[in-house]
Amino acid sequence: MLKSIIFDLDNTLVNFWQFKQESAREASAAMVAAGLPMTEQGAYNLIFKIYEQKGVEYQLVFTDMIKPFNFPKAQFEKIRDAGIVAYLRKKGQVLKPYPGIPETLAELKKSYSLAVLTDAAREQAHQRLNFTGLAEYFEQVGTFHDTNIYKPGTEPFLSICKKLNVQPSECLMVGDNPGRDMKGAQAVGMKTCLAKYDPYFESAGPHPDFSIEQPADLLEVVRRIG
Ligand SMILES: [Mg+2]
Repeated sequence: MLKSIIFDLDNTLVNFWQFKQESAREASAAMVAAGLPMTEQGAYNLIFKIYEQKGVEYQLVFTDMIKPFNFPKAQFEKIRDAGIVAYLRKKGQVLKPYPGIPETLAELKKSYSLAVLTDAAREQAHQRLNFTGLAEYFEQVGTFHDTNIYKPGTEPFLSICKKLNVQPSECLMVGDNPGRDMKGAQAVGMKTCLAKYDPYFESAGPHPDFSIEQPADLLEVVRRIG
């Protein structure tokens, strides 16, 4: 019997990748306008090169970009802050739940316990859930810091079951990443549903039990599981 539905966060509930790309684009333009001696495209590429090396959640990316130029402190701060402000302004405009997510969660919450399971750091995960207004729907939030192990390791999946006080066989895992979300959930015996609606979705990994083209399709999936 299905008791709990566990959601990946980024690119499953919220449009993380779209926000990252558009915010980085704005920050690049703002830093170049403030005096960073690069092209906008060069700055944009450098942001993602740093993310590649230090992780996509790395918070000092603009500092790392400007440092090698050895600007006086005032000039350094002017460029850095131009980047930070442009990034945050764009984030405020772009980062959102996918259309249909809040309504679908509200409906599912009537019959199931809902949780988030993400590889993001605890602070970032809770910030994003609150920022997008989704925090209220979830009984439990599992982050990287609960187990210090990334998906598809089985520990995160078992840890969230323990928090929810359910067995893996009583859970449906919903995620956009076959190699992490679907693989790890299948390994512990959860049912799996692949979320394919993000424009940047790329499929590679084990075959899920279900897949959905839009969030509201999840209501039909849980009806079929029964
Ligand atoms: Mg994801």
